[in-house]
Amino acid sequence: MSSAGFLALEARRLAFSILAGVVAWFVADSPQVGAIAFLIALLMVWGWQLFRIYRWFAHPEELPPISGAGLRSILRDVYVLRSRGVQGERSSRAQPYVRESLASVREPALIINSRSELIWCNDAAEYLLGITLSEEEGKALFEILPGKALKRYLEENNFQKPLRLKPGPDPEWCIQLEFSLFGASDRLIFVKDVTDQDRLERMRRDFVGNVSHELRTPLTVIKGYLETLLEFPASENAILQKSLASMGTQANRMENLISDLLWLSSIESEEGERKVDRIDVRALLAEIKSELATAWPHREVQLKLKSSFCVLGDERELRSAISNLIVNALKYSEKHPVLVSWVDSPVGPSLRVEDKGLGIEAKHIPRLTERFYRVDKSRSQATGGTGLGLAIVKHVAVSHDAKLFVESQPGKGSCFKLVFPEARAVTAAI
Ligand code: ADP
Repeated sequence: MSSAGFLALEARRLAFSILAGVVAWFVADSPQVGAIAFLIALLMVWGWQLFRIYRWFAHPEELPPISGAGLRSILRDVYVLRSRGVQGERSSRAQPYVRESLASVREPALIINSRSELIWCNDAAEYLLGITLSEEEGKALFEILPGKALKRYLEENNFQKPLRLKPGPDPEWCIQLEFSLFGASDRLIFVKDVTDQDRLERMRRDFVGNVSHELRTPLTVIKGYLETLLEFPASENAILQKSLASMGTQANRMENLISDLLWLSSIESEEGERKVDRIDVRALLAEIKSELATAWPHREVQLKLKSSFCVLGDERELRSAISNLIVNALKYSEKHPVLVSWVDSPVGPSLRVEDKGLGIEAKHIPRLTERFYRVDKSRSQATGGTGLGLAIVKHVAVSHDAKLFVESQPGKGSCFKLVFPEARAVTAAI
């Protein structure tokens, strides 16, 4: 409220009371009566105003008693604050009802406040986490479920992806937390025991990793013998030469397959880890372009670098995803240049790899990132593909919170787009 407005209002009240006093003085012809009338008038004016304000306090949903420019603004502020309070009250009045419903569900559920302190949990959560609400209430969630990952997750305040945790003491015990907003600023968390799922995923990863690793040594030996045999004078025989060359090609394919499988299982096993190195995508693209120029001397890769953003992530993974996309564009198109753009989009910086090649029929697009999925098997084999390139791209996208989009038209070409979220975009270091 402006002090001038307040003074004007009070001056008017005072003037009214003085007038009442002067009138009483003249009518009664007594200054004492005038003074008493002045005081009574003043008390009545202020008393009436106070009465209206008190009455309004009891009925916050009503508009404030507007009386004069000065008080109007202060009452309007109080009104806004009170309305927020009423809304908060309404949602907290709804909370007991929701809590009652959650108390009876089998899914373990917790509620934390905006400071991440536990304010409620149901019996199922007590049982699963081995806690008692009365003992843990008010404690920060990361104290109840220790681990740096949870603390960081809560600090980042981005609950789009569920969080997997191994809060011990059993190192195998794995839980998954899914957060959603509850009330004005609380969070409702559903907890799931995913120990079996985690174990199976780990077993599959380890199995693929171990088999690939074990195959590597015999393959190196076979390749070594093949190279020696090719140099033997006895192998000058045309049929033998052809067979040995073909064996060499297959051995190379197998080697690529093994290294892609190993790489994929390594990316998968690091999926939950934080990848926050500042990657200069423009420099990375320039490097990849010059590396590919050696392997594809007759093809052109055009760079269009419009965004100046760097990305927070893992360099090896991003390099591999981007190389896979560009190599695919080169493999599945002929003479036309491949256009690689790094541009800003409304949701974050985006990498586009476009070619004017074979294109892909719409029905194949949803399955492209599956392991070993190939649109045209013979073509893929002819180009030496392992069928794992886009699976690798997909995993790298997931671990960088990015989205992979594919647009393609048979006979016209394809565009593969990796869109990074704003949270991972940072300006280049000075
Ligand atoms: P591959 O090693 O066989 O290339 P990928 O996982 O990289 O495996 O790709 C899967 C399949 O997607 C390929 O076999 C190919 O049929 C198709 N594909 C990928 N990129 C393109 C592209 N730029 N143009 C046309 N088809 C593509």
